[in-house]
Formats: sequence, C-alpha cells, structure tokens
Amino acid sequence: MQPITDIPRRKEEVKMKQERILMAHGSGGLMSQQLIDEIFKAAWNNELMEMLDSAILNLPAGRLAMSTDSFVITPLFFPGGDIGKLSICGTVNDLVACGAKPLYMSTAFIIEEGFPLSDLRKIAESMAVTAQEVGVKLVTGDTKVVEKGSADGIFINTTGIGIIPEGINYRPQRVKPGDKIIVTGYMGDHGLAIMAQREGLSFNTPALSDCAPLYQLGQMTSQYGQAIKCMRDPTRGGLATVLNEIARQAGVGIRVKESSIPVLEVIRGACDMLGMDPLYMANEGKMVIFTDAEKADEILAELGKLSQTQNAAIIGEVYSDPAGMVLIETELGAERILGMLEGEHVPRIC
Ligand code: MG
Repeated sequence: MQPITDIPRRKEEVKMKQERILMAHGSGGLMSQQLIDEIFKAAWNNELMEMLDSAILNLPAGRLAMSTDSFVITPLFFPGGDIGKLSICGTVNDLVACGAKPLYMSTAFIIEEGFPLSDLRKIAESMAVTAQEVGVKLVTGDTKVVEKGSADGIFINTTGIGIIPEGINYRPQRVKPGDKIIVTGYMGDHGLAIMAQREGLSFNTPALSDCAPLYQLGQMTSQYGQAIKCMRDPTRGGLATVLNEIARQAGVGIRVKESSIPVLEVIRGACDMLGMDPLYMANEGKMVIFTDAEKADEILAELGKLSQTQNAAIIGEVYSDPAGMVLIETELGAERILGMLEGEHVPRIC
C-alpha cells in the first residue's frame, strides 16, 4: 500500500508542473480557457473581449491604418522594457508614424512548452499597462503552444488599427527639397541596451532601452496637418536606414550633421568599444520627422514640451540631389555617404 505521506508530495509536483506552460494550454480545450481567463483576461479585461470568433468593433469615420509586427526579442526582459511592452509599442509607433490614432489591437502568442506562467503573467500585465497608457484596446488574440525546443520561450505578434484624422497625409512622396529633418531624441539606445545585456556588459551609467509608445507625439503632430510630410520610426537598421529609405522613396538627397544628432555618451562610448555605429542601432521610442522648413522650429519647441521627445533636434535638410542618397557632415567637417545597413546588425532585437 502507498504510504499516505506521498500524496501531498504528488500534489505539489502537479502544481509545479502547472506553473509552466503545458501542451494542453494550447489544446483549445479547458486548459486553454483557463490560461485565457487567468492570465490574459485578468490583465486586459475590457468590454470588447466578448470571446466570440472575432472582435466586433465600431469605428469612427476616416481612413483606417493597419499594421502588424512579430516580436522575437531575446532576452525577454531587458533594461527599460520587456517583450510585452515592446509588442504594444512597436505596433502603436508604426500606426503613429502614419498619422493614425491607435484604437484596437490583436495579440497572438506562440509559447514554448515549459515556459514559466509567472513570466507570461508579467508579460501580459506589461502589455495591459502600456495599452492603457496609449488608450488602445486589446480586443482579440490567439495562443499556440509548441513542443519544448520548437520555439525560444515566447514569440508575440500584434496587429493594430487606428484612424487617420482628416488633413493628415504622411508619405515619403511628399518630402521635398528644403524640408527639415527632426529626430525626437537620442539615437541607438534600444539596440545597444539589448546587445550590452546579451554580452554581459555593464557601464557606469546603465544603457536603457528607449522602448515607449509615442501616442503623445502623434497627438501633437496631428495639429500640424500638411506641414508634416512624413514620419518613420527608426527601428531595425536605425536612423541611417530610415534616412536612406526616405531618400530613395522620395527621390531626394539628404544631408545631416553628425554633431546635431543626439546620442547619449554611454551609448556612444559603448558603440566605440564594440565597433558599432549608433546611427545603425535600433530605437523603439523615437521618430524621424520630415517637416516644412517654416514650421520646423515651432514643432521642435512643441516636442521639447513632451517628456518622451524633450531631446529632439533638427539634424539636417532635404536637397534635390544627390537623389536617393544620404550624406553626413562628420564632426571633423568632412562629408561622406551614410549608406543603408548591410546584412544583419544585431539579430532578434525586436
Ligand atoms: Mg516602422
């Protein structure tokens, strides 16, 4: 006969197993339901999570913007954020870049068997806090579980929709010679913070990711209507890549001044040490803005009033030639071509 003392131990083992994701959590059955109720609904509950086959939404009139992004960052928790916060910010910022006010988001998770439930809870709560800050609602989602070894912890996809107000039309094709170029803060923070954490590097001043949802920036820029020509968030490939994309799409030449581009000392120093260039490092809470020259100073002053964009700067100007190219005036006064990112810089940073 089994000694009675074994029973509590077995119970404890079952409980421990349940503190991690099991294949059954992705079965679509009872345990899936439990996972949704206890983790996702508990963190996000809103009246639009009706648990139908689709979310049913009322949309205001206007043009709809839609954007999707998948997040495979490693590590999942990093200085300045985590994959949950990042998965909201990434999609929100892509909507904001198109002039849209973010309204609703879907979230989809691919989770590796054995993933700690405590980490999943932290990620779901972080998504809830960020979404609430923006005023965007998480209205539908999906959860899949794959066998241990078939994924790396957790991957998240978010899709967002937003409405573009009347009079807003941000497109590279509207960028013309004479326009000014603004960046909304320090360049390279996210990419360097992730890289430093992976390499186990520490600095006197910690390198923090700039991961942030730029909804306030969107509210501010929307007041400037047609004066804003185009916006793009310098994520993978960094500022250099965004400038090259716009130069090509608009068929214009771009000149920037290295001394005008804000880069934190800790980031510059760490980049020098690692042989990296902060202008190619990813940001997750910054925007590049192309604006009418006459409004540039006023927009810069408005950006200076917002906490997320108080270190904004005008970094350069648009010219008719050399079309499709970006030139940078170095600190020493020389001019060189600032090319597009070639190859993979730092993998899995978002
Ligand atoms: Mg983008």
